[in-house]
Amino acid sequence: MNTSKILDNQEFNNKSVLNHFIKEYSNKNGFNMVIKNSNSKAIYYICDYKSDNNIRCNFSIVAYHSNLLDNWKIKTKTDNNHNHNIDLDINNNTLSSQSFNKQNLIDNIILMYKNGFKPSFIEIKLKNNYPVFKNLISKKFIYDNIRNFKKREKSR
Ligand SMILES: [Zn+2]
Repeated sequence: MNTSKILDNQEFNNKSVLNHFIKEYSNKNGFNMVIKNSNSKAIYYICDYKSDNNIRCNFSIVAYHSNLLDNWKIKTKTDNNHNHNIDLDINNNTLSSQSFNKQNLIDNIILMYKNGFKPSFIEIKLKNNYPVFKNLISKKFIYDNIRNFKKREKSR
């Protein structure tokens, strides 16, 4: 599977949500992205894999910041591949980018909730970030996911 296709054009309104997403996405798929450098316009992530003879993996991701929209957008190159095997998450393998986004949506709800954002604010931000899911995103959807998250935390 081309991992770039799923990552490309994902938008984030918050840098820590973006970093969290990239970390979680890469770890789920058996690799690890680290920030190579960053400035006010872009964040450059690279795969931290090194072969036995010290050859670095060239896989990289760039997130560009838009001042106008005040958000971050992921861009990857189409010829951007790992030089080692990665364990693609078995579930991700069969997911279309739409259903992947839905999980990402839920992850974002939980992360914003954990960062102290109110459900009404989360609703506005998500609708803004994921226009495709405008019909799915409702107060009920957000409350339900927060409730499920709390249940999972309790049963730990
Ligand atoms: Zn790699």
